[in-house]
Amino acid sequence: MSSPNRLRIDRAALAQNWRTLDRMSGAAACGAAVKADGYGLGARLVVETLAAAGARDFFVATWAEARAIADMGVSIAVLHGIRAEDLAEGLPANARPVLNTAGQVALWRDAGAGRPCDLMVDTGMNRLGLDVGQAVGEQCVGLTIDTLMSHLACADEDSAMNAAQRERFAALAGQTTARRMSLANSAGIALGRDYAFDLTRPGLALYGGVPRAELADSILQVVMPEAQVIQRRVVRASETVGYNALWRAEADTEIAILNIGYADGYWRGFTNSGAFRWGDVRLPVLGRVSMDLTAVDLTDATNVREGDWIAADYALASAAAASGMSQYELLTGLGQRFERM
Ligand SMILES: *Cc1c(COP(=O)(O)O)cnc(C)c1O
Repeated sequence: MSSPNRLRIDRAALAQNWRTLDRMSGAAACGAAVKADGYGLGARLVVETLAAAGARDFFVATWAEARAIADMGVSIAVLHGIRAEDLAEGLPANARPVLNTAGQVALWRDAGAGRPCDLMVDTGMNRLGLDVGQAVGEQCVGLTIDTLMSHLACADEDSAMNAAQRERFAALAGQTTARRMSLANSAGIALGRDYAFDLTRPGLALYGGVPRAELADSILQVVMPEAQVIQRRVVRASETVGYNALWRAEADTEIAILNIGYADGYWRGFTNSGAFRWGDVRLPVLGRVSMDLTAVDLTDATNVREGDWIAADYALASAAAASGMSQYELLTGLGQRFERM
């Protein structure tokens, strides 16, 4: 079936971003976070591309996400850990839980049959993870720990918390039987080699996101949403466009109505602030983004025809600024109506 929305995914840029982050990780291995269906791109496409580039360690949130890529021959860590319900459904042999709570540790000791696991330790974010004391304590002795992890709360900012969390984490070296240690997400990699330990876990920057200025020149855009023109029209001077009449024509204006809206993840925040591209010509969004439709200004592109494909301006840092959404939301919101290609 041919969809009127397509998502162009530049696989070469995706692989190049991984190689860039791998190089920045120094001697540490570089993995890839592919939770939320590869940040909206499609987890299988991402795993296939990055495994070919050399990535070996992949991170998902849930066991359903692990199962979706389990046949691809890569090592998978399940960040949310393990529940009795997951054990009952049977676990893929190449996936291991990242244990976050004393309850998960107890469950894995009973049911994991000595299989490897990872441990998440909380060093100050107060999101998921064991206390430092629990991680080095009696209950974790005897577990086969592959990777000891922690997660940075403020890596995308210049915050004193970064060094504080790094030091708390570094102090755990040799305190557990873990084979490796892992701290840095995309932004953490940009903080420097001190943060890389043995394994890094980038997500956002693989997909073209720029969480810190240090990455701006080296990370390539990967995702380009496109929509087809359904209708062209002329808006007469003083008339308005769209719900709530949020844009008014000062002069007669050529516009196009595109087959894309907030149900596709083209959020309402792009109202009167987003833009599309026709070659080098910028086509500003006019008025409110609807659920399935968006109007753009054709003043500088009067040769656009009904049925033509128009690309969204989707460089993530600037699109986030234009829409008020985070770069993460701009990726993970990309809907199911896009044909991913
Ligand atoms: C999502 C996630 C990552 C990847 O973070 P980015 O900011 O997308 O690079 C790494 N580690 C953990 C624990 C995560 O939840």
